[in-house]
Amino acid sequence: MSGATADLANVSWYYDPLPTNCVASWVCPAGTGVGYPDFAYCQEAEYGYKNLAVFYQACSFDCLFCQNWHFRYLSRKEDRVSAAKLAREVDKYTACVCYFGGDPTPQLPHSIRASRLMRAQNKNRILRICWETNGSMHPALLKSMVELSLSSGGCIKFDLKAWDEGLHIALCGVSNKRTLENFHLLGQYIPQRPSPPFLVASTLLVPGYVDEEEVGNIATFVAAISPDIPYVLLAFHPQFMMADLPTTSQRHAQMCLEVARAKGLNKVRIGNLHLLGAAY
Ligand code: SF4
Ligand code: SF4
Repeated sequence: MSGATADLANVSWYYDPLPTNCVASWVCPAGTGVGYPDFAYCQEAEYGYKNLAVFYQACSFDCLFCQNWHFRYLSRKEDRVSAAKLAREVDKYTACVCYFGGDPTPQLPHSIRASRLMRAQNKNRILRICWETNGSMHPALLKSMVELSLSSGGCIKFDLKAWDEGLHIALCGVSNKRTLENFHLLGQYIPQRPSPPFLVASTLLVPGYVDEEEVGNIATFVAAISPDIPYVLLAFHPQFMMADLPTTSQRHAQMCLEVARAKGLNKVRIGNLHLLGAAY
């Protein structure tokens, strides 16, 4: 992505009725009512409200298993949208905004500017700001994300794709060093708002690559920051350059779930059960 600015970005969006299948909906205000009345509209799931899902059409990784690879064919300079226009898409039924993609990282200043405008235009009501990301942003930008998510009741969701750096480079084309450092950095903010959870982790269970050992190492790292960080294991669906792999088996998912719990994490779940394949 070149030429995108804090004001203009390649981005599209849609509304998702709440509660959504968001990776954190099992622990967040939208899905559970946690944080009511400061950060949630209801004491249970926020039926009747919606999420503004913002899809940034760029990424800083190049994953062989990319689940959203279509973004590569969408980015056209003439289609760029201003932060102000995006901010105007928040209406009175919008309870949360989730930036994802691709990944928000390459165009993060745009999402930060849009979020500030959204918050200013919706001062006296709940509007949670959340990010779902590969976590590779410059640490200086993390501070703005933290400020927006912490104060609004939102969360930052990091996809921790692999623990072993060589494996991460093989799968995603880049090192995982900055992602892990950023995740560690975010951990220090958890005491400022332990509930609703501010930091959430997830890992895609790629068959033959992201196994129990990988998940065990990631879980150990996350648990050392806080055993209460929610951790979601996601079933793999054959895509992009890995279209010839099977889906994650039930046994693979179950073993990873058990390992993550054994490493000390209190909140672990399999996020998209319907995608799980054969028992073995
Ligand atoms: S965007 Fe945030 S508040 Fe909304 S469903 Fe997802 S995690 Fe929950
Ligand atoms: S980080 Fe996500 S969007 Fe980016 S290449 Fe990897 S899977 Fe695709």
